[in-house]
Amino acid sequence: MSENITLNNGVEIPALGFGVFQTPPEQTTSSVAEALRVGYRLIDTAAAYGNEREVGEGIRTSGLDRSEVFIETKLWISDYGYDAALHGFDKSAGKLDVDQIDLLLLHQPLTSDFDKTIGAYKALEKLLADGKVRAIGVSNFMPDVLERLLAETDVVPAVNQVEVHPYFSQPNVQQADREHGILTQAWSPMGGITSYYGDFSRSTFNDSVIGEIAEQHGRTPAQVMLRWHLQQGRSAIPKSVKPERIAANFDVFGFELTTDELARIDALDTGVRSGPDPDSITVESFGRNIPEA
Ligand code: NDP
Repeated sequence: MSENITLNNGVEIPALGFGVFQTPPEQTTSSVAEALRVGYRLIDTAAAYGNEREVGEGIRTSGLDRSEVFIETKLWISDYGYDAALHGFDKSAGKLDVDQIDLLLLHQPLTSDFDKTIGAYKALEKLLADGKVRAIGVSNFMPDVLERLLAETDVVPAVNQVEVHPYFSQPNVQQADREHGILTQAWSPMGGITSYYGDFSRSTFNDSVIGEIAEQHGRTPAQVMLRWHLQQGRSAIPKSVKPERIAANFDVFGFELTTDELARIDALDTGVRSGPDPDSITVESFGRNIPEA
């Protein structure tokens, strides 16, 4: 059984979802269908992942009613500015083949061109008012940038999706989110990014403390990390293309970590991010054309 979290606008989101970053389009339909088969009800994709169409196909393949699946996607920086962002929604909804998206995020703040970021967020507010999306939010917004956004817009984001795993847990971001009633959603929740390129020398999956706790519970390190998020009130969106891992990563509702175990995992924070510094994201360096639906 999954659990839901109520967002600041009353909409319910499953706490545990399924991520598809780096899932090749040709594996996305089957992975998403498999995730839905074993119980996930939240799928996290993005315009920039190049697999929204296949996410939509996976959902239809599952046979579930549209209303049973929470679809989350993100606008890419190349589609920022008010009009471009409105059209960005049309592209994503068209590829997903849905009329309404449950949660639409700005994928990154464009701190070098913040007016465009504000324009894009105002487009999200319009989409929300028009019922095209059920909730809106941001991703990779650090507290200072979040304050700038809040000062210039009306709707407090429902979600801030940021890098959070045992080696980089961003307590300051989580605190800022909490103060504004924003749900922190952990990307790379098992620290996948610590071994993206096959180097497991500094991988959360091989951490000795997490390994010890996992052994104590007869669970895997992945399951322990996901439990840590859920017990601390975060949403988490693990990714896998392997059916056995897809299932195991969802089987995290039958055990509890102790307060001491949670604290031991908290203590693993290195304060060093693995992902790009959000301030370094510019259209020049990371821009790309998001194709029409
Ligand atoms: P995860 O922490 O989900 O780790 C995924 C990696 O770990 C993959 O290499 C996967 O390989 C492997 N893996 C999955 N399950 C297990 C397991 N049980 N044991 C061992 N290895 C496992 O990290 P991601 O970086 O993939 O992040 C998850 C999601 O977060 C993304 O799919 C995306 O939706 C979102 N995200 C958002 C970002 C943003 O900027 N907003 C940035 C990055 C991610 P395999 O598939 O072979 O199983």
